[in-house]
Amino acid sequence: MRRPATEALPVVPFARPDIGEAEIAAVVHALREGWVTTGPAAAEFEDAFSAFMGNGVEAVAVSSATAGLHLALEACGIGPGDEVIVPTWTFTATAEVVRYLGATPVLVDVEPRTLNIDRAAFAAAMTPRTRAVIVVHFAGLAADTAGIAALAREHGLKVIEDAAHALPSSRDGELVGAAGQADATVFSFYATKAVTTGEGGMLTTRDPGIAARVRIMRLHGIDRDAFDRYRRSSAWSYDVIAPGFKNNLPDPAAAMGRVQLARAHAMRDQRERIAGRYLDGWADLPLELPSRAALGDLHSWHLFTIRLRADSGIGRDAFIDALAQRGIGSSVHFIPLHRLTYWRRSLHFAPDAFPVADEVFPRIVSVPVFSAMADSEVERVTRAVREVLEA
Ligand SMILES: *Cc1c(COP(=O)(O)O)cnc(C)c1O
Repeated sequence: MRRPATEALPVVPFARPDIGEAEIAAVVHALREGWVTTGPAAAEFEDAFSAFMGNGVEAVAVSSATAGLHLALEACGIGPGDEVIVPTWTFTATAEVVRYLGATPVLVDVEPRTLNIDRAAFAAAMTPRTRAVIVVHFAGLAADTAGIAALAREHGLKVIEDAAHALPSSRDGELVGAAGQADATVFSFYATKAVTTGEGGMLTTRDPGIAARVRIMRLHGIDRDAFDRYRRSSAWSYDVIAPGFKNNLPDPAAAMGRVQLARAHAMRDQRERIAGRYLDGWADLPLELPSRAALGDLHSWHLFTIRLRADSGIGRDAFIDALAQRGIGSSVHFIPLHRLTYWRRSLHFAPDAFPVADEVFPRIVSVPVFSAMADSEVERVTRAVREVLEA
């Protein structure tokens, strides 16, 4: 069926950053200050992030979540010969950082409802070489870090949270990143994420040893950073205590992040309203819709994923094409790691090792949910999904 009006309408993108005049002014201010690498704005952003989390959490700004995960594992002492358990339902960054350190990611399946790491699969994957587990809070619905951590502690394992989707998310009344069950939690400020600095990330921890190690390793293994040296009389002097990395967050990005962080709850509220409209608007359609967080807890709604059912009358790829024809962007989160060439070739697993991921992958789609969405855009997505399924 031809739909003449649709052609003229602008596309509803899958994601669009929510950048206002305050973010622009903050970046301009940082540029006028003349300190364009990591400096006072990064320190202020860290302080604001740690206040946002509360609970005595330390925050360390980094250049990306990938860098933060790498630094977290490094600070936990992960190295060659070690195994780190990672859910297959994630972005490749979660596993690649394990490789950076010469260790081996061991992929495990996820829970059918949440697509977060499955506790039984985690328990079954432990070997005498296992040193850590990475918990991913898929789509922004907080995983059971407490349950995973309890089991991990019994076996002396470290627990790292990939909270790229979880700002802000909470479980049992505690914000992800503040609960202190994990050794470290890492957030992403990538362009499509709920709080963005273009590129950037933040690591939170209540372990002063991890915070100190990450601060040193994010900048060449130097014992104090450039701004710290600049403020002191012996500016030229420094020591190197390890072969570190170059993973610091520049001030213009940090200045933007501080404004975004102050809006994080308001932007989440906006996404929750959009999610509520989808959940209500599509309740009668042949779809599986995502779960809300438990009463009193926060779902960040970084992603809104729908699963087509056998009676949906359309396959996932055709569904994505039909949305695109109606000017609606969509995506798939995730292609499970075990289905990607590098991981398939370099890791050993049984063909039937991931029944949940393999069952869900062919029928899952992420539709637009971002705080800068206009009402008319939400309405168009709501209608387009109904039209495609009722066609
Ligand atoms: C986006 C994302 C990352 C990587 O974040 P960067 O800041 O781009 O490094 C890691 N894990 C998950 C689950 C993500 O969605």
